[in-house]
This record gives sequence, C-alpha cells and structure tokens, in this order.
Amino acid sequence: MRDYFEQARPTITFEIFPPKGSGDLASIFATVDALASLAPDLISVTYGAGGTSRENTVEIASQIQNSYAIPALAHLTCAGNSKDQIDPVLRTLSDNGVKNILALRGDLAEGERLKDFSYAADLIRYIKSRYDFRIFAACYPEKHIEAYSMDEDIRCLKEKTDCGVDVLISQLFFDNELFFRFRDQARAAGIETPIIAGIMPITSASQISRMVSMCGATVPEKVQKIIRAFGHNSMAMKEAGIAYATAQIVDLLSTGVDGIHLYTMNQPDIAKRISENIRGILYSLRIKRG
Ligand code: FAD
Repeated sequence: MRDYFEQARPTITFEIFPPKGSGDLASIFATVDALASLAPDLISVTYGAGGTSRENTVEIASQIQNSYAIPALAHLTCAGNSKDQIDPVLRTLSDNGVKNILALRGDLAEGERLKDFSYAADLIRYIKSRYDFRIFAACYPEKHIEAYSMDEDIRCLKEKTDCGVDVLISQLFFDNELFFRFRDQARAAGIETPIIAGIMPITSASQISRMVSMCGATVPEKVQKIIRAFGHNSMAMKEAGIAYATAQIVDLLSTGVDGIHLYTMNQPDIAKRISENIRGILYSLRIKRG
C-alpha cells in the first residue's frame, strides 16, 4: 500500500463518521466497502464530530488501514482528552499502523471543559514531541466561527502550521472564490502547507441549515436557488447537489488545488457519482503533474 504522501497529486480523500453511541459497526464497514472500491487516496474518520461517538474512531481507522489497505486518517480532539487519556489512543493507532492524525481542538459538548490542551496547536506539539505521526489540521476559508477576524484566524493558523502540520484540510464552503481568497491570504502570511479543499455535496435543505449553523459557511444565491427549486424532491435535490459539488471540484482542480476532501456524510452513492464525474479530469491532471 502506498502511503498518502506517496500518492499522485491532486489527491482525493473521503471523510466518514462513526455511528452514534456504541452503534452498529457493520453499517459503517458497508460504507467503507463501497468507498474503498472508489480507491481514494485516504479515508478519514471523525472523532466526536456533531455529537457522534468518540469510541470507535480508532477501531474504524485501524481497519481501513489494515483490512482495506487504504491510508487512514484518524481525527482526534483536545475536547474529551487529557494527556493521560490521549496516550493510549495514540499508542493503539501507532501499533495498528495508522500513520496520519487530524489534530483538532474539537467542539465541546454541553457542560464539557477542555483538559490539558486548549488549542489544536497544543495537541500537535504534544503528538510531535512523542510520536511519529504525519499531522493534518483544520483551516477555515471563511474564518473559524469564533475568530474575531480573518487576520486573527490566519495568524493562529500560521502558529499552528509552524508546530509541524503536514497538510491542512479546509472546512466546507460553497463559494470557491472564498477558498481562493483564503488560500492567497494564507500564502501571503507565509503558510506553505498544502491545503486540501473540503467539499460537502448538498443533499437536503435541512442538511444545509444544520451545517451552516455549525460552521457559518456562506450559502450563495446559486445554492439557495437550488434549494428553493428542488428542496421538495429528495431525488432532484440529490442530483442538483452532485452537479453543484462536481462543478465546484472541477473549478478547484482547474486552478491547481492540492487535493479534494469529500465530506461523504456516509453516503457512498454520492461519492461514487462525483468520483465518476471527475475521473478523466483527475487522470489528465495527474499525468500532467507527473
Ligand atoms: P484551533 O486551531 O485550536 O482553533 C480554534 C479557535 O481558536 C479558532 O478561532 C482560532 O483562531 C483560535 N485560536 C487558535 N489558537 C489560538 C491561540 N493560541 N490563542 C487564541 N486563539 C487561538 N470536530 C470534532 O469534534 N471532531 C472531528 O472529527 C472534526 N473533524 C473536522 C474536520 C475538518 C476538516 C474540519 C475543518 C473541522 C473538524 N471538526 C471536528 C471541527 C473542529 O473541531 C471545530 O471547528 C473546532 O471548533 C476548531 O477546531 P480547530 O482544530 O480548528 O481549532
């Protein structure tokens, strides 16, 4: 198996989330089966995102790495973890051959408090000082929802990447111009880390409003029009969402993006349709880049 860092560029990566609570792992492995058949460059597994389980990330990431022979990226958060709690998690991942960690602050559950790590950068420094993982981190084309300004967020991002981040993955966005502007700002601030664009296909009006309230992404008029026109019909909405995400990805690929990270929402049929739509484009880019 080729490691993520040996794959041809631009890379295509998928994100999945574990089932809620102790949940049934059979369904997530059925999702992984379908996604693996699309031969992504890496599959990432969330950790407690949106209130989902923190329990199964290690198990799922380890299976992806070993049983599916696809590089796995395990998300881990400051939220929910002291140094003593994170060490066994990191050791198990390392023992299981997982090489990549997406180190995040995470969002706190109601009444929860951060323990030994206040920011993702603290977690990154800790991991780098004791383990041999490649580190991924998050970035925000429209700034992080808590940041006062884009300048402030970029300053914090520079500090974070200076801790030894290998790859940045962006929050979802629906307007590529915002991503391009952010990327220019990051480069101007001296951030040279590859930036992978996070794309979430729109599948329903309720999904959009949930995501937007969580991360504050702008919903352009074009997307609002799609929701108004097709939101009442799930099949039509899905078709339109796949078409919109495909157009976003083609535009990003044509401007030399480092990679695309698809928030699959555990819906492999959508990932499959999008992968088929961009297969030829990806092939030609990879040949060109050599
Ligand atoms: P940080 O980089 O720590 O930044 C958080 C905030 O603090 C920002 O506003 C930043 O500007 C500010 N800041 C940073 N450093 C400093 C400093 N030294 N002083 C003052 N302010 C500072 N959440 C989950 O719970 N589980 C997941 O699996 C998950 N996966 C994700 C995957 C991706 C690709 C992305 C983009 C997000 C994901 N999230 C996940 C959400 C993420 O945890 C939240 O957005 C969280 O609020 C911030 O995490 P971070 O790692 O970006 O935080």
